[in-house]
Amino acid sequence: MNLRQQFLQYLAPTSFEPLALQIQKAQGAKLYDEKGKAYIDLIGGISVCNVGHSHPEVVKAIQEQAAQYMHIMVYGELVQSPQVNYATLLCQHLDASLNSVYFTNSGAEAVDGAMKLAKRVTGKTDFISCRNSYHGSSQGALSLLGDEYFKNAYRPLLPNCTQISFNNFDDIRHINQQTAAIFIEPVQAEAGVYPIDKEWLQAVQEKCKSTGTLLVLDEIQTGFGRTGDLFSHQGLGIIPDILLLGKALGGGLPLGAFIANKNLMDTLAHQPILGHITTFGGNPVCCTAGKKAFEVLLTEIKLEDIYRKRDLFIENLQHSKIKEIRHCGLMLAIQLESFDYIKSIIQKGLQAENAIFTDWFLFASDCLRIVPPLNISEEEILTACHTICEALSK
Ligand code: PLP
Repeated sequence: MNLRQQFLQYLAPTSFEPLALQIQKAQGAKLYDEKGKAYIDLIGGISVCNVGHSHPEVVKAIQEQAAQYMHIMVYGELVQSPQVNYATLLCQHLDASLNSVYFTNSGAEAVDGAMKLAKRVTGKTDFISCRNSYHGSSQGALSLLGDEYFKNAYRPLLPNCTQISFNNFDDIRHINQQTAAIFIEPVQAEAGVYPIDKEWLQAVQEKCKSTGTLLVLDEIQTGFGRTGDLFSHQGLGIIPDILLLGKALGGGLPLGAFIANKNLMDTLAHQPILGHITTFGGNPVCCTAGKKAFEVLLTEIKLEDIYRKRDLFIENLQHSKIKEIRHCGLMLAIQLESFDYIKSIIQKGLQAENAIFTDWFLFASDCLRIVPPLNISEEEILTACHTICEALSK
């Protein structure tokens, strides 16, 4: 059996139509297959590789930390400089009220941790999230997910979880005295890139204050410069009670976090102690990679360039087959006519001489996903747009 056959035989499938593209190497904004063919990566590991693939400084930091220690014990007993230094750096770039970081393995675990924290802090049990929202695939995160097709097969899920319409002022009335927390994405990415209405978020926060409900912002996909702000809530001028991070947080290694005020976070340390525990959350190598990637982002990536690059995509993706382009920073959804058409464009993109690697969105299968590494070059953007337009014209 060759590698592709072993892939089909021994790895559990997530769909029955995998692209099965064999990747040998990834560097900057490019992937290379086993024959050395390059593909411009328009997905960036689904908003993970914001500073590009295998950034040399991140690789070096990982190697050095791996030689020191890789895993000893988490549970907050041992002082491990990679965790401490990264938590400190993160807090230095957030509002002073967000001063305590709980590292997790993934975004979904951060969501679950935040749900538990909200229950402990408020003594309430109800949760609200938005229709068409994506918060992860664990049972807690799935209970918040705003799409019946993706959650229905797994019921019963958590009770007392309801959804309201994103950006709908009328629906704010559903937040009430029983609501422990509301979970919101600043941009509904998987819905096909729908940015939040700042005034709506302000109104939600006002209501939360009056009902004793925690406002949780899920910045797992929007964080680390993706939307043109370091963190999207900073551009919106809204400080959440709990901030969720993941994806680019780990600089290419698995890491998530829920971040809140220390007064809130302290509730997880008593009755029972160890209110949330995780064997690998905050793994020292992952924290080292994440911290280095964050430092690279801060020094090498100018946030204003993100808007210029977004505009370059928009200007060069003018085609009669494109119905709409929705965007927020370097997160773009290219609306086409159908899922079948999207699949054919993805295939043509892979087969093109100047190949591209792209995808669709979970709840918007008629949209092409453009979420590249933030340091993608202008030349790569122009080439990628040319390949997409050629595929649309064929
Ligand atoms: N929240 C948002 C907004 C996401 O986009 C994702 C992943 O795509 C998650 C949560 C879940 O993160 P993970 O896949 O690391 O569990």
